Amino acid sequence: MTSPSRLSHLECSACEATADIDGLRNLCDCGAPWLARYDIDPAPRKPPPGGNSMWRYGELLPHRGAVISLGEGMTPVSRLPRLGASLGMANLWAKDESQNPTTSFKARGLSAAVTMAKALGAKALALPTAGNAGGALAAYGARAGLPVHVFMPADTPEPFELEARLHGAEVTRLDALIDECGARVKEGANEGRWFDVSTLKEPYRLEGKKTMGFEIAEQLDPLPEVVLYPTGGGTGLIGIAKAFEEMRAMGWLDAATPKLVAVQMDGCAPMVRAFESGAERAVRWEGAQTLAYGLRVPQAVGDRLILSSVRDSGGRAVSVAEGAMFDGMRSLAGLEGISASPEAGALVAAAIRLREEEWIDASTRVLLLCTGSWHKYLDAARVAVGRV
Ligand SMILES: *Cc1c(COP(=O)(O)O)cnc(C)c1O
Repeated sequence: MTSPSRLSHLECSACEATADIDGLRNLCDCGAPWLARYDIDPAPRKPPPGGNSMWRYGELLPHRGAVISLGEGMTPVSRLPRLGASLGMANLWAKDESQNPTTSFKARGLSAAVTMAKALGAKALALPTAGNAGGALAAYGARAGLPVHVFMPADTPEPFELEARLHGAEVTRLDALIDECGARVKEGANEGRWFDVSTLKEPYRLEGKKTMGFEIAEQLDPLPEVVLYPTGGGTGLIGIAKAFEEMRAMGWLDAATPKLVAVQMDGCAPMVRAFESGAERAVRWEGAQTLAYGLRVPQAVGDRLILSSVRDSGGRAVSVAEGAMFDGMRSLAGLEGISASPEAGALVAAAIRLREEEWIDASTRVLLLCTGSWHKYLDAARVAVGRV
């Protein structure tokens, strides 16, 4: 059971527009993402103890009618003493999102989005995916009894396709990257074939992912000073910042948001380029290439929100080399037993770099947001273990 939702309305992230929560919505007319707003007056108490999924924060999540859940969230946070010692970091921690249904944190966002889409009458769902979102949507769609269509780049490895198809989705491979797959999903949505659940093009995937922020605040006392986040579409990073804002508004805590570091790959780093040039929006990254498929996002709908969340927190954006990412996978897995996808491996590379630059010191409390397991990334695992 989850508490009644305090969801009240939607607010545009860029203009003054507001909207009610009674219909299926994509972007605001001005082209920017909607943000969900809640009645937090009178402020709820801290969430009741217990409840082993993200739905323990039901007051601050969108839902009406049945919640479509597979037990996502409340993933473990643990200290990394061996990896920390090897990097000269005494206070290194990881949140292990590989333990979610379908083995990545995409489960959080899609549990929330499918819950609302079902309640609001969607008849079919579709999204573009670099990999994990497709499997997660397929699984939650199966649970909700809704047909799912997934569009993925032609070179996406087979395990991602098999997962989506096992869960009953129709999969289309396109000779294109994820943003171009997104254009196809939008066309189908305009034709009335399905509801478009692309990240940040509907308001509720963000709400599911923000629960990582609530959990970090509950699981880590004192809070981390720095959170390293592997950034593709940036939904989780924006969500963590939103969660900290909401917790302060409710009086759950008065601490500042941890410094958020957007980690990208040298082969696809649009946010790093925009951050460094002081821009408010990011330009599309041409020729994006990396085996960290979740980070192969040349253009993000939420670019403005990613950049403002990073800057407001006092964080930064850094990119790392492909080779260092493989080393990072091997050290998370080999020193700490964590099932690390390439995106998680990239965080270790970023920690090394920030430590070398002395942007973090030997005692800084640093949390790695390890977003998924390695199991669908066979090519990267082969390189990481030296079988090439
Ligand atoms: C999707 C994905 C990412 C990127 O997440 P965003 O919130 O879109 O930035 C990172 N890691 C993994 C494993 C992913 O599946």
